[in-house]
Amino acid sequence: MKIDPTVQEMFGEMDFDPTALKAKYLAERDRRVRPDGSTQYQEVTAEFSHYVDDPYVEQPIERAPLFDTVEIAIIGGGFGGLLAGARLREAGFKDLRVIEKAADFGGTWYWNRYPGAMCDVESYCYLPLLEELGYMPKHKYSFAAEILEHSKRIARHFDLYDNACLQTSVTDMSWDEAEGYWTISTDRGDKMRARYVAMANGPLSRPKLPGIEGINEFKGHTFHTSRWDYNYTGGNSSGNLTGLKDKRVGIIGTGATGVQCIPHLGEWAQQLYVFQRTPSSIDERNNHETDPDWAASLEPGWQQERMDNFNVLVSGGHQDVDLINDGWTDIMRNVTGTVAKSASQKLGRRLTKIERAQLMELCDFRKMNQVRERAEELVADPTVAEALKPWYRQFCKRPCFHDEYLPTYNRDNVALIDSDGKGVERLTENGVVVNGVEYEVDCLVFATGFEVGTSYTKRAGYDITGRDGKTLSNHWAEGLRTHQGLQSHGFPNCFFMGFTQTAITVNVPHALNEQAKHIAYILSELRERNAKVVEATAEGEQAYVDEIRAKATVGARFYAECTPGYYNGEGTSGNRGGFFSDMYGDGSIRFFKVLEKWRAAGDLNGLALR
Ligand code: NDP
Repeated sequence: MKIDPTVQEMFGEMDFDPTALKAKYLAERDRRVRPDGSTQYQEVTAEFSHYVDDPYVEQPIERAPLFDTVEIAIIGGGFGGLLAGARLREAGFKDLRVIEKAADFGGTWYWNRYPGAMCDVESYCYLPLLEELGYMPKHKYSFAAEILEHSKRIARHFDLYDNACLQTSVTDMSWDEAEGYWTISTDRGDKMRARYVAMANGPLSRPKLPGIEGINEFKGHTFHTSRWDYNYTGGNSSGNLTGLKDKRVGIIGTGATGVQCIPHLGEWAQQLYVFQRTPSSIDERNNHETDPDWAASLEPGWQQERMDNFNVLVSGGHQDVDLINDGWTDIMRNVTGTVAKSASQKLGRRLTKIERAQLMELCDFRKMNQVRERAEELVADPTVAEALKPWYRQFCKRPCFHDEYLPTYNRDNVALIDSDGKGVERLTENGVVVNGVEYEVDCLVFATGFEVGTSYTKRAGYDITGRDGKTLSNHWAEGLRTHQGLQSHGFPNCFFMGFTQTAITVNVPHALNEQAKHIAYILSELRERNAKVVEATAEGEQAYVDEIRAKATVGARFYAECTPGYYNGEGTSGNRGGFFSDMYGDGSIRFFKVLEKWRAAGDLNGLALR
């Protein structure tokens, strides 16, 4: 790797060999890439379907099937559905129904209650509608129980429990062109009608299991982290897993979830084996309680201001102050376009494409060196510390922030079983085999993440049939097709929330809120204009798809060189098929402005009303 002299000067002193580091990254990547990519995983269907049973439901609901009609149905009661409900209520829509498969609101925070579960995005930005509800989170980073409680608070505040159908899974949805309604069928025999539907199914909602030989043979206890079995482990999401005191526990997966629950398993299990394929990047957390004086000093409008400040900073933009001042804003300041911008200012000219890419790569090496040094500082055994070092660029995988994770490996009862990038070899009746050695366990926890690479309709668990009998799976067979990420031609009155050709941000609820406001605007306009049906025109959809595809090259090379994971379609296809492949390439700041301008123009360009 030949470093450009200007880049060298901008970067300053270099205490590492970039050529050797790059070679190491590529070698680590190469030995992890598998030809089966995203299909390596075991879906939770058929004999594995019990992995998605709801262990948290307290009172199973009994009710007769519904055949009624509502104006707006919202599918999903997580943050997307809650925000849609809130913004629609604010816009004066009364006849709403939320349909949710879980027994309560909360979405991902309903399901993910594993010990240690928390949100690593600052709570004052992340928890929606804090000012509207007059609520202040207890900590800078909220724990799962508080986020779940806040979800219920939003649902109560906006009367979303009224008429809601909880413990109800949608199985099918079809458009009745003559009547101008959707018919929604569910697993409770419902056939309800809705004029409009907002689909807020969530992006990471379907757990997956590792594709390991013998996964059916293991006779001990197993569960996925998103369905934590507290009946077996004892305790709750704060820990206290007393049921594990005499148990040998194994956990597969060291992503953002594994990192949060491993410290609790280490504290309570008699013996814990952590089976690792690729280590995560673990930076400082520094959580603390909310300072009441600071909270009292906040002026109205503070939350939106803070969310905007965070979003600009994590998008590589400039703000005079960093209101958040945490690990996210630090890494974004140090490894993204911000670095290139300050170098340009110093130089008095724009950096060339090559200079910019090289400077950012060097900064990334420096940042990841710090992360690797942190493993050395906090883990006593040098061999274990070495195995915990991540060898890839910061955003190849989701960055993690945790203060107890690495020190957990200093416990006598905790063993890191590193698989040398190969993953678990197979399961036996009694345990887990890695590198030819069998580790006997009583309980095996799968922290193996969620389906990302499969089709939208498969993850949602139902297909939808639009005008002229066309299914969404068919319409999207060659890739997503939307207008502004929200609507598709041939699927009138249906709005997709989440990650369909939209802009992504670190603070996901921020993006969901923008989508919710946009839906509320469109439906308000329909009401104003006495229209009942709104649909993306074929031209509007095509123009938007063209724009998305043209911008989709952003990041493609970056992800092609990354170690496999769901960000890059498990390493098989660079950016294509990965989580970011169909996102709005110009970023969220630009995207939110595009939506705002479109609303201000008021001509609903790209949509047809009738
Ligand atoms: P991930 O998909 O990120 O991680 C799955 C883990 O399972 C990886 O470590 C993977 O290894 C490992 N794995 C899979 N198959 C095997 C195998 N055969 N042998 C050994 N290991 C295997 O899932 P998570 O649940 O951790 O996280 C999903 C997402 O949820 C995060 O990326 C994040 O967006 C979100 N999240 C957010 C949190 C927050 O604080 N806001 C907290 C927790 C999750 P490998 O890396 O090699 O593929």
